[in-house]
Amino acid sequence: MENAELASIFGAGGAVSRAIKGFEPRGQQARMGAAVAHAVGEGEHLVVEAGTGVGKSLGYLIPAALWAARNQKKVIVATHTKALQAQLVKKDLLVVKAVLEELGLPLSYFLLMGSSNYLCLSRLDRAGKQSPELFDEEGIRAALEKLQEWIHAAESGNRAELPFAVPHHLWAEVCRDSDLCLGKKCPHKTACFHRKDVARAAKADIVVVNQHLFFAGMPLPAFNAVIFDEAHNLEEVAAAFLGFELTDRKVKRFLDDVYSPKSNKGLAHRLSRPPAHWVDDVKGAVSEIKHASKDFFHALTEKLALNEQPAKDRAKTRRVREPGLVPNVMHAPLLELSVLLSQAIPHSQSDMEEAEIKACLKRCLELAAHLNAFLECKEEACAYWVEVNDKKRKPEISLNMSPVDVSEDLRKDLFGRNYPVVLTSATLAVDGSFKMLKSRVGLDLSNELLLDSPFDYTKQAGILVPQEMPDPAAEAAAYEAAVIDACVKTCGAVEGGIFLLFTSWLSLERAARALAGRVSDRLLFKQGEQLPAKLITDFKNAGNGVLLATDTFWQGVDVPGQALSCVVICRLPFTSPDTPLEETRQEWMTARGQNFFVDYTLPKAVVKFRQGVGRLIRTKKDFGAIVILDPRVQTKRYGGKFLRSIPRCARLPDFKALKTFFTSIEASPR
Ligand code: SF4
Repeated sequence: MENAELASIFGAGGAVSRAIKGFEPRGQQARMGAAVAHAVGEGEHLVVEAGTGVGKSLGYLIPAALWAARNQKKVIVATHTKALQAQLVKKDLLVVKAVLEELGLPLSYFLLMGSSNYLCLSRLDRAGKQSPELFDEEGIRAALEKLQEWIHAAESGNRAELPFAVPHHLWAEVCRDSDLCLGKKCPHKTACFHRKDVARAAKADIVVVNQHLFFAGMPLPAFNAVIFDEAHNLEEVAAAFLGFELTDRKVKRFLDDVYSPKSNKGLAHRLSRPPAHWVDDVKGAVSEIKHASKDFFHALTEKLALNEQPAKDRAKTRRVREPGLVPNVMHAPLLELSVLLSQAIPHSQSDMEEAEIKACLKRCLELAAHLNAFLECKEEACAYWVEVNDKKRKPEISLNMSPVDVSEDLRKDLFGRNYPVVLTSATLAVDGSFKMLKSRVGLDLSNELLLDSPFDYTKQAGILVPQEMPDPAAEAAAYEAAVIDACVKTCGAVEGGIFLLFTSWLSLERAARALAGRVSDRLLFKQGEQLPAKLITDFKNAGNGVLLATDTFWQGVDVPGQALSCVVICRLPFTSPDTPLEETRQEWMTARGQNFFVDYTLPKAVVKFRQGVGRLIRTKKDFGAIVILDPRVQTKRYGGKFLRSIPRCARLPDFKALKTFFTSIEASPR
């Protein structure tokens, strides 16, 4: 696929090189641009993997922007992380704008945030009037006054742009809530920050949004094409949207919002003219639901023996297979409350009051519906489970429902629509194929493009798979001890920063304890000790820190330079097959003639492995090493899939060679 215009824009001396100082043309970027231009122009779906360094964002933004600006079209770009959203609007789209300006094409773009990021002027008004009703603490009332003062000169009602911190409790009362929005009836509709931003988005050629919000159907303007960046998360995002989690805390929060006997606050006390006896009836219903909720969650805990100590690091989860696990004692009082809330609607004295009652009613009915759906347990393609989270100050118990396969939903509601969809990420393929991704997300027909990273991994990166590591499954204790030894040796061989990537919190905790006594010459950072962004900043600043991490740190973390010189994969990132979700998925796939390991677990682990490895080389000047402590990459037949899925690097036979690798690179002219 050739596109002369894009080849020139991305090529030497082209518009991109004029917009970015020091830009180095990459053939892969122009090829990606041509493929995206073809997809949006012809209305065809496209899957494109672009390795680190291809310049993926510009690779899709420039052709999409050209198409949008020339044809009065609108393109949605949906990302998984806020970090990427920020990069797109603060950096990449400025370049795209400059490129299009050279061609005499004006470009407009806009970042549309989720509703709850915006201040709602009506709710702010209401909070001001009902401040004593809503807030007990003096500090919160003071913050509210500050907000009321600030709003006069504010240009944006976006929380991230506020010049001062707003307590969470206050923000929850004044942010936009789609259920409470008065829409055209709102007295502030012309000044409304959210409406203004939606209007700006409606005029923009490119609108950047969050993937979750895309699925939640936030007020998106009509669009003609959508590009999902970080598309390796698409299945999880869609599953989260299609499933639910109902916690005992959520029930309590809802009831407190209706009426809290402790603070004597809540909707029931705020209504100006409720029907006769209504407040007492509501208090009675709330009290009844509270008791029923206590009985319900207690019965659930007993029935599933959730009080027992779990084995090893297993979370306290129990799969639910049969309907009617415990009696639904909350159903009747929830319905009673919903009737009372409905009765209050005609008595509301303002649009805001009416919206508040309706929002409570909606929450009440949603709770009842989720409880029913959970206890009926009848969706064959869904996993149902109960989980106790002991990590919180007070244990929280949750009922969960999640689809095990979102392909049918996405086939119909995303790929079956009349617009082209582009899926892109640095890691989508397994063994050079998009088969797994496409089957998981229900994408039947699409163009495909696989672009290697332009970095020279054979020179920039070394790979060490230490010999004689015990098998993690067969010799768990010996393996764990060997991992600690290998981590210590890695610290001895690598001067720069090191990521130690684990697959479970338990192994991370144990390793942290063991390493604290054996690695004393550098700072150890542990995921969970502080917020991820702060942790990464401190790790970068340390220059030679050792970060022990799991889960989210396998992807999306960007630490260029020596501050991250080595990534240690402590174990291949297979998802645990014995969680309720994976068990159900396995049964579902097996019943359909699919092989759970080959068709799901293995490819998923390979993608995650690639993401972990991808943390290492972020720029052309980076160099570093990957250490894989899981011997199965060599001893198992499937191991080759992992090794073949990452760029070819210099092979390092042992830790001595690892040390030499760094000294020789540092000594060589760069
Ligand atoms: S239009 Fe909706 S979000 Fe905007 S100020 Fe009014 S109620 Fe709030």
